[in-house]
Amino acid sequence: MIFLYHVILLLLMTTANVAYAQSSNGVKKNYLRKPQTLMIPASLQPRTSPVMTIPYKAPVEAPLILIDPGHGGDDYGTNSSGISKYHEKYLNLSTSELVRNFLLQFGYRVFMTRTDDTFISLEERTNIANQRNPVLFVSIHYNSAPNPIAEGIEVFYYRDDRNKARSNKSKLLAQSILDKTLQRTQAKSRGVKHGNLAVIRETNMAAILIEGGFMSSASEMEKIKKVSYQKSLALGIAQGIQDYLNKQGITPVASK
Ligand SMILES: [Zn+2]
Repeated sequence: MIFLYHVILLLLMTTANVAYAQSSNGVKKNYLRKPQTLMIPASLQPRTSPVMTIPYKAPVEAPLILIDPGHGGDDYGTNSSGISKYHEKYLNLSTSELVRNFLLQFGYRVFMTRTDDTFISLEERTNIANQRNPVLFVSIHYNSAPNPIAEGIEVFYYRDDRNKARSNKSKLLAQSILDKTLQRTQAKSRGVKHGNLAVIRETNMAAILIEGGFMSSASEMEKIKKVSYQKSLALGIAQGIQDYLNKQGITPVASK
């Protein structure tokens, strides 16, 4: 009897050793010291087998930014006063494209209300923005004034009494963009201003309109027509957007 008992014990241990050897990932499991299993009557057992659920993480898309190059097509905007005429609509588009490129480099998604020289009504521009629902909207323009020495950058937001939260966000965005564009261009500050302008009034998200310099000023126009100035201005706009979004806790998704 004692001999038989030893044989059974040896057999059990061998089985246990096989179990050790088969355990995956190098993790040894002690099959001889299994925790006690509580026997639950069949009637009380859950109807579905317990399965481990791994929470599904939806792929998060990078924040969308809407860039609106002012004017276009038959609408030329303002123009320079010198002998060689520069039209605002072209400068708005080239600057906007530079802004888009910087924003893409920063990891954002960008949509532009126009990418060529076509006319788009103000209503269409706000419709595009409200349908696409970006985190923010930036309209890009250059300025003019009867006074030929007027110069500098100004940024408009709409003081919306019906939606104070949007209004506050727009003002923060305006200030952030003004700060960064001044840093980059060394231009004169004309400040953040309230402007009753359709594209920033009728849009539902944080929205600003930047006037990047005066085409009516001969000295400022000398700078504006250069790609280097437009690049500096564009980088300032993009960094202003980035700063504002970081403060709002909205960041582009880090790629793996
Ligand atoms: Zn304009």
